[in-house]
Amino acid sequence: MSVLVFAEISDGKFKKATFEAVSYGRQVADMLGTEVVALAIGNGVNTADLGQYGAQTTIHIASSESFTPDAYAVAANAVANEVNASIVIVSNTYTGKSISPRLAQLMGASLATNVVSLPNTTQGFVVKRGVFSGKAFSFVDLQRDKKVIAITPNSFELATFDSTGTTTSSSVSLGSSGLSITAVNKVTGKIPLTEAEVVVSGGRGMKGPENWHMIEELANILGAATACSKPVSDMEWRPHSEHVGQTGITIKPNLYIAIGISGAIQHLAGVSSSKVIVAINKDPEAPFFKAADYGIVGDAFDILPQLITAAKN
Ligand SMILES: Cc1cc2nc3c(=O)[nH]c(=O)nc-3n(C[C@H](O)[C@H](O)[C@H](O)COP(=O)(O)OP(=O)(O)OC[C@H]3O[C@@H](n4cnc5c(N)ncnc54)[C@H](O)[C@@H]3O)c2cc1C
Repeated sequence: MSVLVFAEISDGKFKKATFEAVSYGRQVADMLGTEVVALAIGNGVNTADLGQYGAQTTIHIASSESFTPDAYAVAANAVANEVNASIVIVSNTYTGKSISPRLAQLMGASLATNVVSLPNTTQGFVVKRGVFSGKAFSFVDLQRDKKVIAITPNSFELATFDSTGTTTSSSVSLGSSGLSITAVNKVTGKIPLTEAEVVVSGGRGMKGPENWHMIEELANILGAATACSKPVSDMEWRPHSEHVGQTGITIKPNLYIAIGISGAIQHLAGVSSSKVIVAINKDPEAPFFKAADYGIVGDAFDILPQLITAAKN
């Protein structure tokens, strides 16, 4: 028996969420007295990176094919059988969310997505999940022998190990997919929103795309990703990849700075799990102030230049 972790690769590098999944997998494996094996499908990655975060073995399947959830799930299932894995950990990212149900079906496994806790094995195998867009938690007992767990990025500390682990090849190869990829639109040159520890976000109060240089400048100084409310991306002031909320991306950074965003319930659904929220709004009655840890009542066009200067200093 082993614990298998699916490692995501983006532009020849492992994602931070993957290191968290590997660290999580190692803790689960230690609890169960077994080993953690990572599965990396792709090219040009340094598999020793996974060892540092807890993988005892990495199985590498070289492939230059674009990601397709069906082919990757079939390969992951075959590797899970090969290494006798009863638990597979993935990240609750777009990639992980597209693989995990397919993999659970192939394995005949229980599936839990959006998981934010280590399993409690004192009675069954219970994990805590974020539900209703992060408004509540549910505790689910994964009763089947095999389990697929998708963990929420930024929910677990990275553990580091003085080891590089070992890398082995597999008899499994990536098969063909029933899907044909017509286009791949990549967000380039930025910190991925789901992995960012700090996010600077703007709403309709920013008045127009010509004012976004202030959001970007503050984000650059803070090493932050940029985000926006839904109307802002609907009006094409910003790309849809930055839209957070119920119908956009759910994020969980350490710090979320919301500028000129009212704090509608649909927006909060995607950001309310942030560890610290700062709202800047000229309306003292803006709903965001009820959800924020810190609030600045004022005009964004006065506050932002001051914040940028302060952050530079
Ligand atoms: C089914 C459904 C799903 C939805 N999903 C999402 C979602 O995923 N994400 C999302 O964001 N929204 C979503 N919405 C829309 C949501 O209800 C709100 O309409 C939206 O979040 C409002 O965006 P906003 O705060 O940028 O704009 P507004 O509501 O227009 O608010 C602008 C804010 O800026 C402030 N402001 C104005 N000028 C300044 C200034 N100079 N300085 C400082 N503050 C200023 C105002 O006081 C106001 O609070 C959804 C709605 C529905 C019905």
